[in-house]
Amino acid sequence: MSLSGKTAAVTGSNSGIGLGVAQALAESGANVVLNSFTDRPEDHAIAQEIADQTGAQVKYIQGDMSKGGDCRAWIDKAAEAFGSVDILVNNAGVQHVAPIPEFPADRWDQIIAINMSSAFHTTAAALPLMRKAGWGRVINIASAHGLTASPFKSAYVTAKHGVVGLTKVTALETAEEPITANAICPGYVLTPLVEAQIPNTMKEYNMTREQVVRDVLLERQPSKSFATVEQLGGTVVFLCSASAEQITGTTLSVDGGWTAL
Ligand code: NAD
Repeated sequence: MSLSGKTAAVTGSNSGIGLGVAQALAESGANVVLNSFTDRPEDHAIAQEIADQTGAQVKYIQGDMSKGGDCRAWIDKAAEAFGSVDILVNNAGVQHVAPIPEFPADRWDQIIAINMSSAFHTTAAALPLMRKAGWGRVINIASAHGLTASPFKSAYVTAKHGVVGLTKVTALETAEEPITANAICPGYVLTPLVEAQIPNTMKEYNMTREQVVRDVLLERQPSKSFATVEQLGGTVVFLCSASAEQITGTTLSVDGGWTAL
């Protein structure tokens, strides 16, 4: 499908799922705004690379999604660059794993801010633009952990359940308009966020990498395969298509059967 003429803003998109989603949107012809909290030449180079590969207009705009003011200013800058924001993908996220009594309070605050509150701020700034343009898609990258829980991930599970709640409210507030809001709930995808959890788990359980992948990470993913960033990119593009016009306020699991258990 062609998203030519639409502008997509993807938070946390210099790596992992966000980068895969940005790539898929650019391949569909959308102008794409990439983001992270850094402002390095390599961040801008990623934008240039996607533009060269796809022919789409792609721009990297720095913004720290842990700060509400930055989130809102980033949407304004994206609209300044391309005229509007038609597709908002809230994807930025971080993880910390620890039992509740030992969970550092500053990590709790950071995860709630980046993984949950940023979606509120960007949505608040983007909805008026979508209303003005007469079309919009809000797509929140939640998680299987937005629907179910695991021990030691209190902040992450709380934030992702919150994102699912915010998605439903966004959908109800826009229900009679040509705007939809949905959450995608991936199971495990082998990105830097997941890679970072492997060494500690190997040490903690005295396991090989292969054992950690199969018996810990993919233990609850019945397919025993990781979902891919390309599959998530394809799911986002589907939610932007005309076929998805009546899909709003819901969650779409891309989790190899995890939440069927
Ligand atoms: P990743 O670490 O590859 O990507 C995270 C992105 O967020 C990066 O681009 C990073 O720069 C960005 N980011 C971090 N802090 C930021 C900040 N303060 N401001 C702006 N950007 C910031 O991880 P990923 O696995 O691609 O995760 C992307 C999203 O998908 C997250 O919300 C994550 O919770 C969710 N998710 C991932 C998996 C998985 O298995 N990988 C599963 C379910 C959900």
